[in-house]
Amino acid sequence: MNASQLIAELLDFVFVPRCLACGDMLHRPPNTKGAAHSFCMVCKEALLPLTSPSCPCCREPFTVGNGDHLCSMCLSSPPSFQRIDTLYEYGGPLATAILKFKYAPAPHLAKSLSELLHQASCEGMDYIIPVPLHPKRLTQRGFNQAALLAKALAKQQGKRVLFDVLHRVLHMNTQVGKNRKERIHGMKGAFAVRDSKALLANKHVLLVDDVVTTTATVRAAARCLKREGNVASVRIVCIGRSSNIT
Ligand SMILES: [Zn+2]
Ligand SMILES: [Zn+2]
Repeated sequence: MNASQLIAELLDFVFVPRCLACGDMLHRPPNTKGAAHSFCMVCKEALLPLTSPSCPCCREPFTVGNGDHLCSMCLSSPPSFQRIDTLYEYGGPLATAILKFKYAPAPHLAKSLSELLHQASCEGMDYIIPVPLHPKRLTQRGFNQAALLAKALAKQQGKRVLFDVLHRVLHMNTQVGKNRKERIHGMKGAFAVRDSKALLANKHVLLVDDVVTTTATVRAAARCLKREGNVASVRIVCIGRSSNIT
């Protein structure tokens, strides 16, 4: 294969739309986008839409019962956010796509993945803020996946994204082995609002993360935005909701 053939193959590989999970080529009409067009038929059928029953506040999925109701954690310790908006349970092809995005790493997938966010979450919001990584983690990974998603979402929705307002000041090595309550407690004080406090006061903020599991991180971030930033409200949007604590 000569150099021009190699370049042509590389361009094909980069620009031909491919399934976010398995990488198969997508045969989709031009100018189509959204979750329905980001996965091949096989992977799309394997996505897990988040359905009832679940907690209407934190979207914790329930395995039994048939009606939505607040989970025990939201009842005993109401979070500082209004609710979590998400369309999918974390697992299957969605997990494959997110793991590829974060750890392959494949930051160019941010635009396609951001189309899996609940787009209506932006209504009434003044700013979009990504859940920040601690500087040590940011150095290790090289990018903040939530920041890339927030940037893509803000562009689609014509909203302003604030990158340097909320900071992660506590570096946690691991929370493995701790239960949900312990993790929530362990995240207290993990975030700080620096500068731009006047910008945040009485504003409605949409906080973006890729996956929410125990809610410990988004609870701590929302609490900080309310207490230190005096925001009027915080809503969370994420691509996938998992209840499998590792
Ligand atoms: Zn696929
Ligand atoms: Zn809940």
